[in-house]
Parts: sequence; structure tokens; C-alpha cells
Amino acid sequence: MCSGRVDLEFVLRAFSNGMDGVFIGGCRLNECNYITHGNYHALNMVLLCKKLMEHIGLNPERLRIEFMSSAEGIVFAEVMSAFGNRMKELGPLGKSEGVDPNTLKSKLAEIRKLVPYIKVVENEKLASRLKKPDEYDALFTKEEIDKLFSEVISYYIDPEKCQACMTCARRCPAEAVISAKNQIHVIDQDKCIKCGTCFEVCPPKMRAVVKISDGPVPPPLPEDKRTIVRKGKEK
Ligand code: SF4
Ligand code: SF4
Repeated sequence: MCSGRVDLEFVLRAFSNGMDGVFIGGCRLNECNYITHGNYHALNMVLLCKKLMEHIGLNPERLRIEFMSSAEGIVFAEVMSAFGNRMKELGPLGKSEGVDPNTLKSKLAEIRKLVPYIKVVENEKLASRLKKPDEYDALFTKEEIDKLFSEVISYYIDPEKCQACMTCARRCPAEAVISAKNQIHVIDQDKCIKCGTCFEVCPPKMRAVVKISDGPVPPPLPEDKRTIVRKGKEK
């Protein structure tokens, strides 16, 4: 019902599935049927996605958003026709850009994994309402996107502090926390989508989850060393 519902992940998934172009049609800006102005969210998401596409070598013209009313059939037909023709000129995804299909696949997979992280970092801009089209280009800059990837945050559980309360494992949306009763918890870095939930929910008296942005994540504690011996139970 609303272009604001089109998530960044949906667009990247379409490209991962081999779509050559993605078109999003939204209601006219400032004519939203709801109080949410979701079409601004869609616009900001598209502006961000275009920069992400440039970052991995894709032509951002493969993603287009236009705003029109349901009575504007002719406008819709013209826009779709122009978009379709441009996609025909560009050809299959990555071909005119000279990006190797396997490299493209792995880059798209890497970015899709980071969608929750990207959305958290860019939350404020994704919710903004730009007044004029000439502000669009400046919303997300190339430098900002490069920094987003060069300073990506990883989360690590400090084995000295974890008390195996299991809160992080229950709340993790990606089942990335290796959890068992009375066992120091460990984050599976391959599964982690860097949403930061574990960092937020680890109780203040433990503060066992740490953010790492300036170096490699320490290796996980070996399984046979994860058992927590509670006070009073030590022999
Ligand atoms: S940051 Fe924490 S909660 Fe989020 S996916 Fe990674 S381990 Fe799970
Ligand atoms: S929430 Fe904190 S203390 Fe509890 S299991 Fe996770 S890392 Fe350990």
C-alpha cells in the first residue's frame, strides 16, 4: 500500500535474483494518504541504495523511483517505457558495467548482510524529508558510504564478563549467538548482521558485549573452555 514499505533489502534481493532494473512507483510527495509520508522514506532509501550500487560498481540508473497519482496513466506509461528502454540499453545486470557475475553476487550478498547495520547508522537521514530535488545528491556522499564499509562495527562477547544470562541469544534476530546454559556466550561472526541488539540488551552489571571497529575480532573461546563455574560451586 505504501512505497515506504519497500525495504532496502527488497531492492538488493531483486538484484541478487538477477533483475536488471528495479522501478518503484510512489504517491506524489506531500500528497501521502497517511500521516507517515512513507514516500519520503522510499526516496531516501533509493538515494542510499544508488550510492551502495555505485560502491559495488553498478550503474545507479538501474534503480528508479517516480512519484505520480493513480490517475496519471499516461505519465506512468511514459516513465515505464523510458525505464524499460534504458534497461535494454544497459543489458544484463553488471554486463555494461564490466563487473564479473561472481564478484557481483558476493558483493551483493555482503551488502545484504549489512542492511540492518546500514539502516541503524543512516537512520536519521533515512527519515529525513528533503524539500528540493537539488538536495537529493547531497544526502548520501561517496565518502560517507566508503566510511560506512571501512569502519564497519563488529560485536564481540568478552568471556571475562559474560555471565550466560542468555538475554542476547534470545533477542538476536539472526541466531548468531552461540548459547547454552552456564556457557560463556559467543557470537558467530559469519551469521552476525551487526544490528547491535546484543550490545543494547546485555545487562549493565555485565556489559559483556563490546564494539570493535579498529581491528580484528578476537578468536572465539574454545568450546571446552566456555563453562562458567559459579561461586560456591567451585571444588
Ligand atoms: S549484533 Fe548481536 S544481536 Fe545483532 S546479529 Fe550480531 S550477535 Fe545478533
Ligand atoms: S546478555 Fe551479556 S551476560 Fe548475558 S549472555 Fe549475552 S553477553 Fe553474556
